[in-house]
Amino acid sequence: MKIAVIGAGPAGLSCALELARKGQDVTVFEADTAVGGISRTISIWGMNVDYGPHRFFTMDKRVADFWIDTIRDDFILVDRLTRIFYKNKFFDYPLKPLNAFVGLGFIESLYCGFSYLKASIDPKKNEKSFADWVSNRFGQRLYEIFFKTYSEKLWGISCDELDADFAAQRIKGLNLYEAVKNALFKGKAQHKTLVEQFAYPRHGAGEVYERIADRFAALGGSVRLGVSVERLVIKDGRVSGLDTSEGFFACDEVVSTMPLTDIIEHTDAFSDAVKKSSRQLTYRNTTLVYLNIAQADIFKDNWIYVHANNLQTGRITNFRNWSPDMLHGKGEAILMLEYWSYDQDELWRMDDSALIDLARREITATGLVEGRAVGEGHVVRIHRSYPVYARGYETHLKVLQDAVDAVQGLTCIGRNGSFKYNNQDHSILMGLLAAENIADGARHDLWKINTDYDYQEGKSALNEERSK
Ligand SMILES: Cc1cc2nc3c(=O)[nH]c(=O)nc-3n(C[C@H](O)[C@H](O)[C@H](O)COP(=O)(O)OP(=O)(O)OC[C@H]3O[C@@H](n4cnc5c(N)ncnc54)[C@H](O)[C@@H]3O)c2cc1C
Repeated sequence: MKIAVIGAGPAGLSCALELARKGQDVTVFEADTAVGGISRTISIWGMNVDYGPHRFFTMDKRVADFWIDTIRDDFILVDRLTRIFYKNKFFDYPLKPLNAFVGLGFIESLYCGFSYLKASIDPKKNEKSFADWVSNRFGQRLYEIFFKTYSEKLWGISCDELDADFAAQRIKGLNLYEAVKNALFKGKAQHKTLVEQFAYPRHGAGEVYERIADRFAALGGSVRLGVSVERLVIKDGRVSGLDTSEGFFACDEVVSTMPLTDIIEHTDAFSDAVKKSSRQLTYRNTTLVYLNIAQADIFKDNWIYVHANNLQTGRITNFRNWSPDMLHGKGEAILMLEYWSYDQDELWRMDDSALIDLARREITATGLVEGRAVGEGHVVRIHRSYPVYARGYETHLKVLQDAVDAVQGLTCIGRNGSFKYNNQDHSILMGLLAAENIADGARHDLWKINTDYDYQEGKSALNEERSK
């Protein structure tokens, strides 16, 4: 059996390595010139940085074992420190009752308390949107202060238009009571968004994927960098090969992590109705602006969420606070400001120098850094970084899932590959289980990962491993 994997990100590489370990003949096609997908690490000004803050966390033992077997001892556990910047004040995130009370003031805190009580007694029926979901669990007032602005910056649509699925997937089981309980009783099983430590490879998130690629190559696997897949070829209802930028590649199985909508759009065998549904699904883009700061000690947070309405950036990451091995002994810091946009937005089309000017203005406006400390800038654009869970997206996604399932030899996994708001751990799990389906005849329902696969254990499988 000849297997082609599209994409050398976490999902594609995990799948490829597992298949190679099971003795399969696997070729990976990667459009970019490096492995790691959006979890890669790059070097700027002699220091390592990621494509956005990439903490690693998993509740799944299989993923934890795979990750640790890859990185071995070359990771650290980082104490998470993140805050929210709102109305020129910093609030702890996860929210801490006393800190929020002091920051908001007595009157606003009282309003928040009443609004939470109201939501507890008389919740909105039939939760459909993100706004309904969060305000039912935190009260309207806290939702507006701590969830609305940030989410609307990130998604570029109103929280009433954002599907409740997004909240249910990302902050499942969390409510104000849970957040307060977590703050008061540390050390008990914590909600996954509230964990205070995360694992991080010494040289950056991408180190894991470079090692996976090396292991895959050592088993005879081939990663074809700079080769993009343009079309899937289907004959009589089954996969027969791929049209790539370097010609036709015949194969029996395809594991695709390229955007699901692209594979549908460029494959003749899919019907117009399926393509019509595919065009209803959209992605958000991310622009990362890295700034070199001539100062080592700026702030202690790993990242800061920017809720302030007058700033376009949504998050500021300080790469000095991740792993000392990334700094290579340098005395300065790299701050990274994130900007989100759609293809048609001005922000997405701005040139590098305008973006660097914007980031310089915004970082000084926060008061975190003095203007004279801000040096050079560097811009990275990630096209389609987030699948958008606009209300009703699931109906269209189901049409695509059914169409993919009807093709023999086709498996679609990964963040854009399955149109799921995946973290690295979800994509790795999809890769591992896809390999079992193909090589061992297992029947895992991969569409359910990051939807119905519950994080049941309530604590980090990695921390458990580490303490052994
Ligand atoms: C700003 C930001 C912050 C994040 N923070 C975290 C975090 O803290 N923790 C965490 O766990 N996760 C985080 N993530 C998510 C994480 O980056 C992804 O979940 C993960 O990289 C997804 O892996 P993947 O393999 O599914 O997809 P990708 O990483 O997107 O890899 C897909 C690969 O397919 C390739 N490809 C696409 N089309 C083609 C084609 N036609 N032909 C050939 N190759 C193709 C791409 O070039 C890419 O390399 C973050 C993401 C972003 C954007």
